[in-house]
Formats: sequence, C-alpha cells, structure tokens
Amino acid sequence: MGARTGQQYLDKINSMRPHVNIDGVVVSENIAEHPAFKNVARTYAKLFDLQHDPKYKDKLTYKSPTTGDPVNVSFLQPRTLEDLERRRAGIQVWAEYSNGFLGRTGDYMNSSLTALSSAKKWFEQADPVFGERIEAYYEQARENDWLATHTLIPPQVNRSVSGSEQLGGQLAARIVEERPDGIVIHGARMLATVAPIADELLVFPSTVLRGTPEDAPYSYAFAIQNDAPGLKYLCRSSLHNGGSHFDEPLASRYEEMDAVVAFDQVFVPNERIFMLGHPELCNNFYTDTGATALMTQQVVTRTIAKSEFFLGLATEISEAIGIDGFLHIQEALAELVVDVEIGKALMRSAEVDAKLNEWGMMTPHWPTLNAARNWYPKISQRFPQIIRMFCASGLMALPSEADLASDALADIELYLQGKSLTGPERVKLFRLAYDASITGFSSRQALYEYFFFGDPVRMAGALVSSYDKQPLQQRIRDFLERQD
Ligand SMILES: Cc1cc2nc3c(=O)[nH]c(=O)nc-3n(C[C@H](O)[C@H](O)[C@H](O)COP(=O)(O)OP(=O)(O)OC[C@H]3O[C@@H](n4cnc5c(N)ncnc54)[C@H](O)[C@@H]3O)c2cc1C
Repeated sequence: MGARTGQQYLDKINSMRPHVNIDGVVVSENIAEHPAFKNVARTYAKLFDLQHDPKYKDKLTYKSPTTGDPVNVSFLQPRTLEDLERRRAGIQVWAEYSNGFLGRTGDYMNSSLTALSSAKKWFEQADPVFGERIEAYYEQARENDWLATHTLIPPQVNRSVSGSEQLGGQLAARIVEERPDGIVIHGARMLATVAPIADELLVFPSTVLRGTPEDAPYSYAFAIQNDAPGLKYLCRSSLHNGGSHFDEPLASRYEEMDAVVAFDQVFVPNERIFMLGHPELCNNFYTDTGATALMTQQVVTRTIAKSEFFLGLATEISEAIGIDGFLHIQEALAELVVDVEIGKALMRSAEVDAKLNEWGMMTPHWPTLNAARNWYPKISQRFPQIIRMFCASGLMALPSEADLASDALADIELYLQGKSLTGPERVKLFRLAYDASITGFSSRQALYEYFFFGDPVRMAGALVSSYDKQPLQQRIRDFLERQD
C-alpha cells in the first residue's frame, strides 16, 4: 500500500475494535467519530493526505525499496548526510503544518523503528530471530504506513522502589506466561499519547532493569495492534471543550489524548517480540541501536517549529496592541529569536557532525542532540509565560465566535479593535494566544514538553555521566601546572 491517504487512515482506525475507557464509557468502534478524538483524528488524516499533495509529496515520501510505492521519508534508513537532511526536510513539513503541537506524528515512532531495524545485528546478539523480526516489523510498518505510539514507564504508585518491586511485582506490565507461540502480558504502563487513534502500540524497555530473576519478567520489547484482546486504555477527559477552530484554535485541532495502558492477559505472538530476557541489552536498547538519535532528530525538528510558532504569535500580539516598541517586550522577543536560532543551530550541527554508527546508519552527532533535548524542556516553559505577559487582560477580554454573530458585534468592533486589527481580527488572534498560554490544552502542552524524554532531573544526571568531560578536566590540570 505505501503512504496512506487520510481516508484510508480513518477507515482503518474506525474498523478497529479497541477498548478505550473515557468519561465512564467504553468506546470500541468508530473511534474517530467520538467527540474526544474526532478532530485530532482529522488533523492526523490531513497529515497523511499531505503525503499525496503535489506540493509536499517529494519531501514527505521516498520510493519503497521493496515495492517501489511511495512511503514516508521517516522510514528512510540514512546512510549519508543527504539522507539525514532529506529525512529532516520531510519531518519539517508535518512539524510546521501542526506548528509543533503534535508529539506523536507517525514520523516519531517511524524513526525509532528505522534505527532499530538498521541495527538488526544488535538484536542478533540475543538471538538471530529477533533481528529478523524487527526488520520484518519495520517493513510492515513502512508498507502499511501505521501510526504507532509507545508506552514506557511503570505506573506512578511508589517511586521509591523499582517497577518490578511495586506491589510485590503485581503492578507493572510483565510476562506472566511464556508459550511456544508467544508471551502473555499482564499489568500496566503509563502513559501512551494518541493511543486511542493509533494502529499500533510499541512496548519497549524503559526503566533500568537489574540482571536479577525478579526483573526477568520485565525484560522484553514487543509491538501489539491497538485492538488486541485484553489491551485497555484509560483516558483522561478531553481538553477540547467542543469549541470551533475560532474559539479553540489549538485544542480543536491538536488535542492528543493520553491514556494509561492496562494489559489484561494480552497474548503477544512470537513474530511481534523483538527482545526477551537480556536485561543488559534492554537497558541499552535505544542508545546502542541509534534509536534515540534518530527519534531526537524528529523531536528537535518538531520543537523548532513550535518555537517559531511562539515567536510568530508573540510578534503578532505585540504589533496588534502597540507594545512592540517597549524594551522589555523586545527583550522577550529576543529571547524567542535566540531560542529559535539555537534550536536550528543544534539541529544543523548534529547533522554536519553525523557519523556512520557501527550498524552503518548515518547518525546525528549525539552529544549535540542530547544537549538539545535537555535544553528544550526547560526553555519551552517560558513560551506561555511570555504570551501571558504580552496579553495581560487581553486574555480575559475574549468574546466567542457566537458573540461576533450577535448584537455584541458593534461593541466588539469598537472596543476590542487593536492598533492594527479590527475587533473581530483581534479577538481571533487573542483566542489563539489564550489557547497557547492559559487553557488546559496549553498547560498539558507545557507538561508534555517538560517530561517528553523523561524526568529532566534524571536526564541531566545521565547527560553529565555520559558526556566526555575528561579532555576538559585535563586542560584544567595542565593549566594548573603551567609556569608561563
Ligand atoms: C502529557 C504527557 C504525555 C506522555 N506521553 C507518554 C507516552 O506517549 N509514552 C510514554 O511512554 N510516556 C509518556 N509520558 C510519560 C513520561 O515519559 C513521564 O512523565 C516521564 O518519564 C516522568 O515520569 P513520571 O511522570 O512517572 O514521573 P515520576 O518519575 O513519578 O516523577 C515525579 C517526581 O518525582 C521525582 N522523582 C521520581 N523518582 C525519582 C528518582 N528516582 N530520582 C529523583 N527524582 C525522582 C521527579 O523528579 C518528579 O519531580 C507522558 C507524560 C506526560 C506528562
């Protein structure tokens, strides 16, 4: 099949029979028609459609090496710098279309699978069959253009003990039975963003595993289709309140659901199991294969688009109400400009310094991307603050679309006009500012960015321990010995 159209995507997820709990009901058919998922599913459908749009087709797709059909460029296994740049240019199309607000566009997990299958030989250390399976699964994902998400961490019950120690080992998703034809999984993980409208769920290693018998049931990597019997999603309430694109411009398009994942005796067939046992390999699953680097290339491309969105929005607001001449406003705009340019520079630098890894994949320079993924969760928290500071009470002087069609229009035109905008234009812009800075949708976005790659505190620790500081320490020692 290759690159899907939006309609093909919608038809597929509507035909699936997942178990999705939301607001007291179970939704298990026509998932893309449920009010909590309808709009974001249409946004995802639009992204699939862009793959067939003459304007973007060449950037978003390449020729499948097996069928010759166009497939998404995020499946391209990079062997050269040009391949890496080509991947980024395609990723950029979706990132800019969604202004960086969608964290689980298909290219994120596609990047992971692309790196994992390139590192087929790494899987063979455990068993040659795992190498064959990850490659076969990657090809299926590519040819069927699946939308996948992933779930990594054990439920947040007691963080003072490891996942395997929670409730005496009876809580986190684990292997409860090994059969000749597969494994049975029971327990939970959290979270899985966009899960209800995905095709596939990747359940890969996450927390550090010990090589003890107690941790053996937690050493695995597998994929499961979204409507596998026993797989259940427990959603939060939607952050889109049902408003129009005018009233809720971001939430009405980009409200990706997050769900807790419960496995109730879920059977996973052998062909979907990519690692079993081998805790030491599970612990290095992402880094040794290059998956983190390729996934981070996607994420940094997305976050650059999001930083650009906030710079554009803040500039529009400043001009609309005539605050662009004030120095502290310019200082905040400068902060946004610097963030955009640092993001782009880190991305470019990681590409230019890319090297082939031991599996033959052209891998962006990891220390640079690692710096980017430690930097963004913190600086992005400033974006909504800046919008709130610019808008002040303007964020509360906010009639709705319905008011524009009412007797209130004359007052809106007179009292809510901006320096450079009519009343209705200003209301439209400020409703966007509201959705980007003060709504439940915007708070969830800030939380998402902060914890995107994991807990920033522990990520910082990992960055410090993995960074090669030795040459710099040596320089200090040499300096202390210097006589001139
Ligand atoms: C909106 C959203 C969407 C998400 N989507 C996904 C998804 O699609 N797939 C997925 O796999 N995950 C997803 N996550 C989960 C994300 O990976 C986690 O939030 C992140 O790894 C942090 O884990 P936690 O939330 O369990 O926080 P916790 O680990 O419970 O941390 C809570 C607090 O305790 C502190 N803390 C806890 N343990 C320690 C420790 N050992 N040392 C020091 N401090 C500690 C932390 O610093 C933090 O302040 C999502 C999270 C959010 C918020």
